[in-house]
Amino acid sequence: MAEFYIEKQPQNTGAHLVHFSHCQGLSELSGLNYLGSIASYDSAWKEAKKLYHEVSACPACAGQYAG
Ligand SMILES: [Zn+2]
Repeated sequence: MAEFYIEKQPQNTGAHLVHFSHCQGLSELSGLNYLGSIASYDSAWKEAKKLYHEVSACPACAGQYAG
């Protein structure tokens, strides 16, 4: 399991970035919604999709969850 966050503020593209809790690029917690302790990035993505229409994987930390 890993903990995931999603940014409240969208990127210029309109997408909200999903982060792994240990991501170096995480902004302040006040700017994040906690998604929960989730088994996989795919599941975190589905949780994120419940909150926001447009979500995108953070390029800095999503790679750690590939496969
Ligand atoms: Zn990240």
